[in-house]
Amino acid sequence: MMTASRQDQPPPEDRAAPAQAFDVLIVGAGFGGLYALYKLRGMGLEVLALEAAESVGGTWWVNRYPGARVDIQSLEYSYSFSEDLQQDWRWTERYAAQPELLRYANHVADRFDLRRDIRLNTRVGAAHFDEVARRWRVSSADGGRWTARFLVLAIGPLSSPNLPAFGGAEGGIERFAGQVLHSAAWPNEPLELRGRDVAVIGTGSSGVQLIPNLADQASALTVFQRTAAYVVPAHNGPLDVAWEARIKADYAGFRARNRNTYSGFGSELTPRPISALDATAEEREAAFEERWRVGGLGLLSAFRDLLTNPRANELAAGFVRGKIRQAVRDPATAELLCPRHPIGCKRLCVGTGYYETFNRPNVVLVDVHAHPIAAMTPAGLVAGGREHRFDTLVLATGFDAFTGPAMRIDLRGRGGLHIQDKWRGGPLNYLGLAVAGFPNLFYIAGPGSTSAFTNFFVMVEHHVDWVADCLAWLDARGHTTIEASTEAESDWVTFVNATAEKTVYLGCKSWYVGDNVPGKPHVFMPLACGFPAYAKRCAAVANSGYEGFIIEA
Ligand code: NAP
Repeated sequence: MMTASRQDQPPPEDRAAPAQAFDVLIVGAGFGGLYALYKLRGMGLEVLALEAAESVGGTWWVNRYPGARVDIQSLEYSYSFSEDLQQDWRWTERYAAQPELLRYANHVADRFDLRRDIRLNTRVGAAHFDEVARRWRVSSADGGRWTARFLVLAIGPLSSPNLPAFGGAEGGIERFAGQVLHSAAWPNEPLELRGRDVAVIGTGSSGVQLIPNLADQASALTVFQRTAAYVVPAHNGPLDVAWEARIKADYAGFRARNRNTYSGFGSELTPRPISALDATAEEREAAFEERWRVGGLGLLSAFRDLLTNPRANELAAGFVRGKIRQAVRDPATAELLCPRHPIGCKRLCVGTGYYETFNRPNVVLVDVHAHPIAAMTPAGLVAGGREHRFDTLVLATGFDAFTGPAMRIDLRGRGGLHIQDKWRGGPLNYLGLAVAGFPNLFYIAGPGSTSAFTNFFVMVEHHVDWVADCLAWLDARGHTTIEASTEAESDWVTFVNATAEKTVYLGCKSWYVGDNVPGKPHVFMPLACGFPAYAKRCAAVANSGYEGFIIEA
């Protein structure tokens, strides 16, 4: 299992330097952590954000691979909390590329003077709840020590890279003598791949964005595919200024309409309110074609039941397979590129020229589903009984999602309960925000919330606002701790599982269920009820005086 081995740290309280005390410590200065810092500091709280990287930006700092780009339109994938910010900031493209998103993160950090309360290059090693002091004691590997009443994990659901063993100790990755890169740990300095033989393992969203870019540079590109991906065209281009002006004329209204959709974006592309099965073949084709022409993730909302009815889903899947067969000249390659699982069961990929890349003479597709990678060698890897040789290996193998980021911290709650023990069988939490046994801890955009299915900005603004209201409520009443009850947590997990059963998400192996990481428990981790229903539940709990939580004076 890829989850970090438990790295027990010396108890933070035994360290030499005195701990600095805060009201709130935030772990992470990506888009969740930046907003949490802005919001909580604005309430007059003493707040510090600890960030492992040398920059703010989170996912958009580490995923610097060529072609990295967001798959939600920039006018939607951005903060709504400041009208001035959303009016002033000008996106250049329909889907912002990684450098522009990083500039945006830096702009936000500067504009709201956040940097003075962010400590970069600081990986939190341990966070222990001190039951006597009722405070979190936090330490970093470089000797930093802090305490706080509240700990906010803004570490993201996808920040712990998945590094498969490929043949284990006998033939593991370290045997390969060439260069190894991971999409989520891309070097910051320029990388010359021209004239090199490059291999990519992985054809999820990252691989789909990387592959056409690598094919442009490498003299030869070998793509090792375990599962074929459904890829819809992005149709990216310069941002339509007339559309921008129309949105900015009533940005608040646009944001509100988006928050009212299942995914927190796409309000201008509402689903037809009928089953795909009730449309005629011509109507269906026209509907799918229209979404294909528009580009982006909207294909999945062409009809109301594509993600809930396997038969309806198969109609959309068949439509995309038809597009693949049109795009790829070699019929055998086209068939290999045709996915067989339900569309949307794994996160739908948005790409540019992905399938067409396989028409290039310098690109070869290798099936490692039928013939898995048996071992690495100094010159390449062995699959299907033969050695494939290359200079550079790019791992686009994804993430130890949801639980990985928290489980690589030495995170302990009451009685020294370790998160690795608590989550051994899968993530247990309440509302996707709180964990029984871990008082005054909040997880932003983590498991048990709709994070994986929601526009990340909508998700983090909602979570941070909920946490901020909760802290204000506690303080107004003089309460010191809040903690999910085990009953509420257990009911929540039951709800998460029951919701998943009504969808197509259980119909394949994916990072939603931990199947991408060998040995990880097969558990559906995100919540699939849609953002509006989720937000309503969170609001109901807050309005009830935090039902399901144990609150201590
Ligand atoms: P991913 O979707 O988990 O894809 C990982 C790929 O690596 C899969 O094709 C997987 O095959 C393959 N793989 C893993 N272990 C392997 C092994 N041992 N042998 C062979 N193949 C192996 O990861 P990702 O592409 O990094 O994307 C993760 C998520 O990040 C996305 O779903 C999306 O939410 C987000 N993301 C978004 C964007 C965007 O906004 N445009 C871009 C990148 C990432 P299997 O499918 O068979 O497991």
